[in-house]
Amino acid sequence: MRRAILPAVLAALCAAPAMAGDDIRFTAAPGDPAAASVEAMVPAAKARIEGFFGQPFGEPLHVTLASDRAAFNAAFPAAWGMSQTECWMVGVGVADFLVLLSPADWAKEACEHDAADPVEAREILTHELVHMYHGQHNPTRDFTGADDIGWFVEGLAVLASGQLDAKRQAEAAQAIRDGAAPKSLATAWSGPHRYAVAGSLVQYVDETYGRATVVALLPAVTQADVLGKLGVTEPELLDRWKAWALKRAG
Ligand SMILES: [Zn+2]
Repeated sequence: MRRAILPAVLAALCAAPAMAGDDIRFTAAPGDPAAASVEAMVPAAKARIEGFFGQPFGEPLHVTLASDRAAFNAAFPAAWGMSQTECWMVGVGVADFLVLLSPADWAKEACEHDAADPVEAREILTHELVHMYHGQHNPTRDFTGADDIGWFVEGLAVLASGQLDAKRQAEAAQAIRDGAAPKSLATAWSGPHRYAVAGSLVQYVDETYGRATVVALLPAVTQADVLGKLGVTEPELLDRWKAWALKRAG
């Protein structure tokens, strides 16, 4: 028996460090019907993000599935002053934690999200994990004081998560044609086209300056940090992005 058990124990010990999920700490309330499906999405989302940035996460991923809105709100640090959250808000991700409102609760306590669409839940989880990766490479860790570059923080999450699909790319071009493009970077993450516009802006930076520049922008906190790294003024960036997006859309 010993001879039979020992190799099994050794195999388990040797396999442990390489097992997927070693660096993923997933927590969910017992009995949450969405827990297994969401947990299963994390390794692929992590791999996608590490592929995008070309470097692994440097720290463990703490992912919590909140079973209802009250548990979701309770997960926010008191300092954020967010004891209440809007119905469209179903996820938050910063360097040290990610909390997702369970898709099993979306029909009851969320709006604008379809729990029956598995792609949507996967993209939202991936979006928040991009914020986690970004936070782990940003001195603020939770983007406090980085509101002005919300366009970059959110646009990066939209782009790297795969949310900037053909429909959203066309939406960005249409917003420019309609004169609905943002007049400033600080307002680019606002309004009905914010996902399309912010995602397209970061896609412009990515395709024009290269992925290494996007990676070099991860520690940026202010508009000056971003513009200085790109070597452009704010009007230049906006004008060049608009021309690029219209040409790309054809
Ligand atoms: Zn976001």
